Amino acid sequence: MSSENFNPFEMAQTQFDQVAELLQLNEGTRAILREPLREYHFSIPVKMDDGSVKVFKGFRVQHNDARGPNKGGIRFHPQETVDTVRALAMWMTWKCSVVDIPLGGGKGGVICDPHNLSLKEQEQIARGWVRQMAKNVGPINDVPAPDVMTNAQHMLWMLDEYEVINGGKYPGFITGKPVGMGGSLGRTEATGYGVIYTLREALKEMNVDPKETSASVQGFGNVAQYAIRLYNKLGGKVLAVSCWDQNDQISYTYKKESGIDIDELLKITDRFGGIDKEKAANLGYERLEGDEWIKLDVDVLIPAAIENQIREDTVGLISDKVKIIAEGANGPTTPEADKILKERGIFVIPDFLANAGGVTCSYFEQVQSNMNYFWTRDEVLDKLDEKMTAAYHAVSRLAQKKDLFMRDAAYVIAIQRVAQACKDRGWV
Ligand code: GLU
Repeated sequence: MSSENFNPFEMAQTQFDQVAELLQLNEGTRAILREPLREYHFSIPVKMDDGSVKVFKGFRVQHNDARGPNKGGIRFHPQETVDTVRALAMWMTWKCSVVDIPLGGGKGGVICDPHNLSLKEQEQIARGWVRQMAKNVGPINDVPAPDVMTNAQHMLWMLDEYEVINGGKYPGFITGKPVGMGGSLGRTEATGYGVIYTLREALKEMNVDPKETSASVQGFGNVAQYAIRLYNKLGGKVLAVSCWDQNDQISYTYKKESGIDIDELLKITDRFGGIDKEKAANLGYERLEGDEWIKLDVDVLIPAAIENQIREDTVGLISDKVKIIAEGANGPTTPEADKILKERGIFVIPDFLANAGGVTCSYFEQVQSNMNYFWTRDEVLDKLDEKMTAAYHAVSRLAQKKDLFMRDAAYVIAIQRVAQACKDRGWV
């Protein structure tokens, strides 16, 4: 699968089919789980700052809600497709299931590029999305959250619109809200930290001290930034980060042999995770073009950008030194590349386990919002660590017992739980 004809939904279905076979699921269960239960396609009109009206295409896919209300983020992305949203919704179902939180899977998107939109225009998109979806989302049926290029401000606009439409306060409608406005402490850090909690456990199992390891990270958005911070705290050294350059329309890898300094890089990074290349050069960073992050001689690779990055044509670039891939992004590795990783014995902490910290903390946010009683940051992060660590070990134990690839073991646990819920409800 090259990057041109990549279809994430086909990939998600391929992964599902393989495990459905392994589990010998019956036909009805396969049929219900390999497709979304519901999906919505709609138009969002926006009065642009120049006086024109532009119509943006929006989506919400609700993959499965047998275990609880659908849950998942809303992406603003110029290359958004309904198949991407379908795949991501399905992965949300498995993600909530593998960490055993009582939620289903959903995902939303709008085809737009926030780089070229004013805040006023983005606010109209956020509010317009809720206007179109208001009847079909809500605290008890579908709970959105931030994702690629959306943040706490978008969530608050969406909450406000929802509350105006429904004439009441519904803090459990959406998560990833600003702290003080129904948000949870720790939510911003949660996804990146969760990646490192699972990495820490994997290193422990391998008897490797994190202080003796180095990593290369793809992406420099929210997930990558907090993953790097916690990995540094454990003593690990990040040799390079890569990020998208909006001006040049390509990715660059920024490398420093002595290890990147997250605080100095954050000072020269825009709100989309784009690093200023001139300023980075002044700080002594080497700038490499393209896929260089994947080729480095490090112990750990953390793809934390978007889907379809470790493919048949890029997997061969991975150095023999790499022991672990911790997937911060959703769907970064294709099934073709997985086969090669299996053969090479590279240990993969699969996306829907590694990056489940975000939705786990979203669940905590909902619980706090519904109680209207908020926990301290330490309390939130301790609970998050506990949940992620337990989920990691459940998957790792099964992988060892049945000699499974970690991704397959995670799928077995997640799919079994959802299949059981469908059965118990009498759907299949
Ligand atoms: N968008 C994040 C994810 O892909 C978080 C979803 C949520 O918090 O509901 O996991």
